[in-house]
Amino acid sequence: MTIAKPPQGNTFSGMGMTSQRTRDRMLARLREQGIKDEIVLSAIASIPRHIFVDEALSIRAYEDVALPIGFGQTISQPYIVARMSEIIRHGKPLQKVLEIGTGCGYQTAVLSKIAKEVYSVERIRPLVMKARGHLRELKCTNVKLGHSDGSMGLTEFAPYEAIIVTAAASHIPQDLLDQLAVGGRLVIPVGIDEQVLTLVERKSETDYKHSKLEPVKFVPLLGGIS
Ligand code: SAH
Repeated sequence: MTIAKPPQGNTFSGMGMTSQRTRDRMLARLREQGIKDEIVLSAIASIPRHIFVDEALSIRAYEDVALPIGFGQTISQPYIVARMSEIIRHGKPLQKVLEIGTGCGYQTAVLSKIAKEVYSVERIRPLVMKARGHLRELKCTNVKLGHSDGSMGLTEFAPYEAIIVTAAASHIPQDLLDQLAVGGRLVIPVGIDEQVLTLVERKSETDYKHSKLEPVKFVPLLGGIS
């Protein structure tokens, strides 16, 4: 007689605090916080956030908090990832998106589900390697990562239909405005102590509309690479 073995948990399904139930609760909370775009919500539902943080922190991976990822940086709060994704999607499928500040690659993985092509740059090399590992594990094959100073954008693949900056800037870099396609949307936290999530819509070659959306808290956008 053979005795059936209990099912083995795998990294993605997880057990306990990383279980499907915990992840469903996170989604319910995002809805309560006002996230309405179902495509964004299902993208978030499909990405296991716990694999992006150290094992010791995975118990907190589905709380609505930013968590440390090393090098003085953080993984963004699920609410802000959802909110920024919803803002750039604006109810429409996206073709080419640029992200500045890959970090551990969580927002990048969510973007890979809502856009056809995703480019993301990060200034800290070990984080690029870390993000690359996570995105490979999740088979996000439509993403290209780069190690560079994102305040200069990424001219090689410009223009972008959407640009998402996940670090706070004192001002909006001109290169990013130039690399935004006409009709495109740029979302960026602006400010040093008091930061405001700002949306820039490029209406024509020369006409940019700026809107201040809500207060946020991000790590700073820094110059150079390390
Ligand atoms: N998108 C990430 C957020 C990471 S925190 C997530 O989903 O969790 C912001 C990241 O921006 C940090 O990793 C930081 O190193 C990076 N960053 C800061 N200034 C940058 C710059 N000029 N170019 C590229 N990356 C930058």
